[in-house]
Amino acid sequence: MKSREKLRFVAVPMEVANDARTTLRDRFGHRLSPVLEHGPCRVCLRISREAEDFILLSYQPLPDTGPYAEIGPIFIHARHCSPYEGTTFPEDFAPRRLVLRAYGHDGRIVDASVAEAGTAQHEAARFLSKPAVAEVHVRHESYNCYDFKIVRAE
Ligand SMILES: [Zn+2]
Repeated sequence: MKSREKLRFVAVPMEVANDARTTLRDRFGHRLSPVLEHGPCRVCLRISREAEDFILLSYQPLPDTGPYAEIGPIFIHARHCSPYEGTTFPEDFAPRRLVLRAYGHDGRIVDASVAEAGTAQHEAARFLSKPAVAEVHVRHESYNCYDFKIVRAE
């Protein structure tokens, strides 16, 4: 595959978000409550300028197939928001320096890097040009919280 590979940017599934919003429990049994925060929201992939109502929950971005399937904290808007669907890099994240982790089809980590601001899309495309890489996870540079994943567009 070429580095001009078309990419898809994948937010947290609406089903996970709606379950958390309606039950105020996450899939790991934690009791959840709305908090005033700046996000970023892992559903719409926006970073709020003003504090908004968010829910903090635990989320596991990889299927539960092995030790690399980490569980960690994410914020989502407390009320419905439109899930990010795009083949362009989420613009609120573009100015950030970001951690990228490339995972294989078996859920094992293949490679990782820290992408300078504005370079994460190119770096993710470079990882996804390798057939062994199935998905690239984008994370915060220092907190290391999960943000979203990048896959090849079908
Ligand atoms: Zn949102």
